[in-house]
Amino acid sequence: MRRHSPIRLRSLLQQTWERLRGRDQLLVRAGEDLPLFVFSFPRARAPFADHLRSAVCLTYRQLSGDLRRQYSHVLPRLPSLVVVLLRGRNLCSCLGHHHPPGTESHVARRLAADTGLRVGEIDLAVEAIRAWEPLPLASLAAQPPPDLQPELDQFRFHAALLAVFLHELEHLAFPDLEEGPVRRRSTDFYAASLREFFSQQLGASYGI
Ligand SMILES: [Zn+2]
Ligand SMILES: [Zn+2]
Repeated sequence: MRRHSPIRLRSLLQQTWERLRGRDQLLVRAGEDLPLFVFSFPRARAPFADHLRSAVCLTYRQLSGDLRRQYSHVLPRLPSLVVVLLRGRNLCSCLGHHHPPGTESHVARRLAADTGLRVGEIDLAVEAIRAWEPLPLASLAAQPPPDLQPELDQFRFHAALLAVFLHELEHLAFPDLEEGPVRRRSTDFYAASLREFFSQQLGASYGI
């Protein structure tokens, strides 16, 4: 009999539970410059899809054109439809993956068969991303005013979702690229997003 650590066991049970309760799909049109997305999420976890939709449709559009152009080489190379599987956490503890051709879920295979489109697939671990702090806010040169804190927490979470999302899309567009440059681009993108948020909100430049 296999023995699992309590955390792993909890993740396994969660995934089994989610499989039993089923998943919902949400079609997201985020703009001419982006592919169509289908977010697939556990039926009981609709907020996962709401957060990602907000990150892709709102946060992404709030950022400067200069910042968005960091990914302009990636977007034209993406399949016209991308399935995003949303989970709480991954058993391997990664924040996300891209799924090479042949390893997609039945959702992506079914969509490809039904639409005849080229369909790509990534997954994102939404709760793990929420807890991820590559740049602890404590490292900010100045403390944000307390009334900005809820907005900052929300922005930080959505910017992190967006950074991991773009990171996995870059792997999907360029499967042969090594992790180093892909990781650097997404971490820089995340840091620059926070800088822009601070300068928009406070008209100040923070030492992130
Ligand atoms: Zn992994
Ligand atoms: Zn990667």
